[in-house]
Amino acid sequence: MGIKDEPKLIEMARFIQFMMILAVVAAGDTSVCAQVNERVKNHTEYLASDELEGRGRGSTGAELAATYIAEQFRGMGLKSWKRDSYLQRFDIPGLEKMESNVVGYIGSKYSSDRSIVFTAHYDAYGIRKKEGEIDSIYNGARDNAVGVAALIELARNFTKQKAPRYNLVFVATAAEEFGLYGSKFYLKNPIFPTKEIIICLNIDGFNVSGKRQDYFVLPRQGIDFLDEIQSALKPQGWIYNSPDWEDGLNKSFDTAVFLEKGIPAVTIWTGDRKKDGTQADPIPFGPIHSPEDEITEHWNWEGVEEHLQLYQLLANFFLENPDGIEVTDPTLFSQN
Ligand SMILES: [Zn+2]
Repeated sequence: MGIKDEPKLIEMARFIQFMMILAVVAAGDTSVCAQVNERVKNHTEYLASDELEGRGRGSTGAELAATYIAEQFRGMGLKSWKRDSYLQRFDIPGLEKMESNVVGYIGSKYSSDRSIVFTAHYDAYGIRKKEGEIDSIYNGARDNAVGVAALIELARNFTKQKAPRYNLVFVATAAEEFGLYGSKFYLKNPIFPTKEIIICLNIDGFNVSGKRQDYFVLPRQGIDFLDEIQSALKPQGWIYNSPDWEDGLNKSFDTAVFLEKGIPAVTIWTGDRKKDGTQADPIPFGPIHSPEDEITEHWNWEGVEEHLQLYQLLANFFLENPDGIEVTDPTLFSQN
């Protein structure tokens, strides 16, 4: 090459430099995403480990789980619900030991009374010995160690953003499986008034099936904000796709306690369409509420970060649009 080719060379050098910067940025993104997935995996592995005894009511395992979640909240700088404690302790009828919700929050920059409440229950079925069973620990990995792990990382993501318009409250609820006691207690003892709660975004189960394109909303009836949810998620490529069996679960989540009081609340699950729109093969998860609800080699953590982003998008949407959403039929969720 002669001297007259020099401008071309400089151009090429610039282009290569530009591509290298792009590559670094892209690698950076992937590694942030991989880090989040890895952290969710680590929390889940601990919470669903045999050491925690299936996080049953009144167990040492449940106490260890609460301590762990509180330490995570403290480490990321969430404010505690009472002076120096994240633990919101309460009694359950007929149980000697007290249970503890773990409650932390990020304060509104306007010192508003309004809040968005994120919930995920950390209890599971504990240890139940059945005749002839080898494994009697109900680890509750999908239900709901992974949901709590997601709640922790969701909270961490919000601590990295600028102060929110309204308060963001994170509640890892206790004793959901046998009476929704933790969420009931929070609503009787909220940090911010219940009538000022904009919405409860609940996590119960989380995407460990790999990257997904579609999602569905629980509940889909008795609320008037399905359109709002869709308009919040559509710009990021999420497609609403109802499987048509959701209604049977209306009373099964912590959300029911909010909804029966007329407070908007939802749980969002991802569907079974892959990113290219094709149907994914079913993954052989162990059934929930059994000793087989454990982490296995079939779990795929790649879609975790996007499911977290989905919750973040929703929260950001309702921080911007907090008014005019309603529970149109609270009786659908009544616990009596
Ligand atoms: Zn659950």
